[in-house]
This record gives sequence, structure tokens and C-alpha cells, in this order.
Amino acid sequence: MKQINEDAWLLSPGNANAVLLAKGNELTLVDAGFAGKERVVLDAIAALGRRPSNLKHLVFTHSHPDHIGSSAAIVEAAGARTYMHALDAPFAETGGRFRPMTAAPGLLHGIMYRLVWHPNVRMRPFRIDQHVADGETLPLAGGLRAVHVPGHAAGQLAYLWRGDRLLIGGDVFMNIFGLADPVGFEDEAQARRSQRKLAALQFDKAVFGHGGAILSGASDKVRRKVH
Ligand SMILES: [Zn+2]
Ligand SMILES: [Zn+2]
Repeated sequence: MKQINEDAWLLSPGNANAVLLAKGNELTLVDAGFAGKERVVLDAIAALGRRPSNLKHLVFTHSHPDHIGSSAAIVEAAGARTYMHALDAPFAETGGRFRPMTAAPGLLHGIMYRLVWHPNVRMRPFRIDQHVADGETLPLAGGLRAVHVPGHAAGQLAYLWRGDRLLIGGDVFMNIFGLADPVGFEDEAQARRSQRKLAALQFDKAVFGHGGAILSGASDKVRRKVH
């Protein structure tokens, strides 16, 4: 668990990121990592001196196996309310199959794509309590503004937390060997528009679905990557 802000922590439930946000005793988790990694989340809650029942909200960037994997177990342990874009919710509620993607351009992306992307994998299904739409601000954790960024997944949302403090960007980019494309796209042209959409926003820090957090000047780094 790595603290990224006074009320925000980066967790790694498997080789994917999740962000735990606090407002007083109430906790919100954005994304839920790979399957079987619920312990990472529950241990982080305990390390903050909270109980599983303090986790009130489980918010998703998109419904891929590496972002929803431990959700059913976390919801069982905590009873959290769940939030996702309507276009991705059916995959959480059925547990797959997932929509097809193609590898992003480049040799490294081709290799990573074959390593990580298994569309036939099935997840434990769980219910989505609330659909989230583009531009909506969820009154959670001090405010999470949803920005629809399709292309990697049709129902992908990025979230701006507390104004411009932190972008939780899902798989619009990854940040493993520097800022780069995600492993694959459902629709590359749409994904490029979503990258430009994020580049037009202002935010101090950023966390994408994979790799390290960007702890300062994050929107400038995204702009430099896109232009
Ligand atoms: Zn993804
Ligand atoms: Zn991912």
C-alpha cells in the first residue's frame, strides 16, 4: 500500500491498481484487482484502522477481469455499494465472456497482450447497484467526477477526485515503463479520442490501471504523451 495523498492510497491486488479513498471513516475503493486478491484490500483497510464495513462504495473504471476480479469477495466481506458505467455493467453481472480486444501497436504490447488478455476467462459475477454516466459527480470520498473514456472498453470511466487532485484513469494508459498505451483496444480510434479527452483536463496526480502513480505534474505528462 502506497500513500499518494492524505486520503488516498494505491493498492496492487495482483498486477493491477486499485485506489482506496477515505473521507472520515467512510472508505471508497476504485477497482478491485485480479481474482483472489481480496486479502490485499482487506489488509489495507485494517492497516488504516478501519473495518471492512467502513468500505461503503466500490467504484469501477471498467469491467475487465483484472479490475473486477476480487469484487464479489469484497462485496461479501464489506457489503459495499457498487458503481459502473451501464455499457460495462453486464460483464460484471454475468462474469464474462468479455468483449474482444486487439493488441495495441508495438512488439512489447503484442507480447503483453498475449500474456494478460484471456477473453474466455470467467469471473464470479456480482450486482452493479448504480450506473454512472459521463460528467456525473458521485458524492463519494469528497467527490468523484466521471469522464467517459471508451476505446479500451466501451464503458470505461476515468474519475477526477476532489477537483483536480487526482486522476484515476483506468486503462486509457498504463505507466509500467513510462506512460504508454494500454495492452489492447476494442476501438483504437475511439481510444485515441479518449486519450485526447484526458489530455485536455487538469489534474495534479494520476493513477492508471497498471504501473506506478504519477505524483506531480501529471496532466502535463499526459499532454506531452498525446501531442
Ligand atoms: Zn482493461
Ligand atoms: Zn487493466
